[in-house]
Formats: sequence, C-alpha cells, structure tokens
Amino acid sequence: MNGKVYLVGAGPGRRDLLTLRARELIDSAEVILYDQLAGEILTTLPPTAELIDCGKFGRRHTLEQEEIEALMVARAKEGKKVVRLKGGDPFLFGRGGEELETLLLNGIEVEIVPGITSAIAVPGCIGIPVTHRACASQVTIVTGHEDPTKGRIGVRWDLLARFEGTIIILMGIKNLPAICDALITHGKAPGTPVAIIERGLQDDQRVTVSTLSEIPVVAKRNHVEPPAVIVVGDVVGYYRGINLCHST
Ligand code: SAH
Repeated sequence: MNGKVYLVGAGPGRRDLLTLRARELIDSAEVILYDQLAGEILTTLPPTAELIDCGKFGRRHTLEQEEIEALMVARAKEGKKVVRLKGGDPFLFGRGGEELETLLLNGIEVEIVPGITSAIAVPGCIGIPVTHRACASQVTIVTGHEDPTKGRIGVRWDLLARFEGTIIILMGIKNLPAICDALITHGKAPGTPVAIIERGLQDDQRVTVSTLSEIPVVAKRNHVEPPAVIVVGDVVGYYRGINLCHST
C-alpha cells in the first residue's frame, strides 16, 4: 500500500508559529524532506524519522529538484508517511506547485498544510501592515531572484513601477540594485520608502529602512544578507522601530 505525502508549510521559522496540523504531522512522520528552513524549526524534527536535507542539494537546479521529487515518490511507494517541509507557505515560491504535480501524476495521495508566509508575517511583526486603508489597497508578492537586466520575461518591473500598492520582494537581496534601478527607470518615485527585514522573527533579526534610490548603497554598507523580505511602499512609514512579535 502506498504511503502519503504531506506538503507542509513550516511558517517563518519559529516553533510556536507552526500550525497545530504541521506539528502533529512532523511529530509522527517517518520521513521528513526539509528545505533550508529559518530558525529553530530544524531543531524540533524528531530524530526517529529519516531526515533528508534538501537544502544541501545546492542551488536547486532542475536535476536536483527532480531528485527531491523522485525521493518523495519512492518513499511514499514504500508505504511511508512522508512530510515535505517547506519554509513559510508551501505554495509561495519554493516550487511546491511542481512537487504537487509530480506527486499526483505518480498517483500518490497528498495532503496540503498551509503555513504562515514570511511575505506577510515578517513585515507584520515589526508593525508594517502590507495593506492599509490609508495608503495601500493592494499588495503584490514577487521574486527578486531573476536579474531584471537579463531580459527574461518574469517579473514585469515596468508595470510594477506603476503599481499603486505594496510590493513585497522575496529572494531579492542579490539583485537589489538592479531591481531598484528598474523600478525608478520605469517611473517609480525615487523617494518611495523601502524596508528590508533580514532573518525575520529570529533573535538576530535586523531592519533597514531607506528609500528606493538610497537603499542599494545603505544595504551594501550594512552588509545586508539573505534571507530577507523587502517591502516597497508607503506602508513602510508605519514602522516605529519596535518589534511586535512575542519573544521566545
Ligand atoms: N514559501 C516561503 C518563501 C520561499 S522563498 C514563504 O512563504 O515564506 C525564500 C525567501 O523567503 C527568502 O529568500 C526570503 O526572501 C524569504 N524568507 C523566508 N523566511 C524568512 C525570514 N524568516 N526572514 C526573512 N525572509 C524570509
């Protein structure tokens, strides 16, 4: 009899921000395939399960992604209870959609467990609401992973420059200068407020606030590093320099 694969969101990296369902499944899993997860979640995985570090497969090229998917399918076909643990929510970047497709194509039973996404929780916990009736009635979440100067069709920075709402950028640190440049070139005001939250909800969280035109220089000077959430828009003005998440 086939086992089952649970695509589980691990939330933004704190054990008490996991869902109850995620905790239950992690504790009873026979196999856990996990990504490079933020924070303390990794320390809470049961040693009795077979723990497979998918992060160490490197930069997640196609073949390695295939390898991860093949492993999930193989373990499920052995009849195992398999948890595929992904940071934040399983379907916001991180290739959860592809994994679901493969599992279903292989006739594997699947359950989805949503997670708290870093895209909303990380700004939220420092008092930056991603929408606000006064200044942002819409929000968009984009990947900053694709270099805007490489000309690949992905994120439409030209259209985003005219988007009147909050722009949340994940995986955007490496391309930060090119992203800011693309937004300004296409007409976004250089003075638009920007916040970068590194290692959100972790003990060593750091927040950098500046403007679209200045942030590349400030980030470089401060050695800003991934993982980080970048928030572009007037909602950044609500930041008061205080952390509003409970301490652990
Ligand atoms: N599915 C995840 C996102 C995967 S992409 C989610 O829903 O949160 C990975 C990116 O998420 C990182 O490069 C970073 O931009 C962001 N990220 C995830 N956890 C974070 C954290 N604790 N602090 C800051 N950024 C985080």
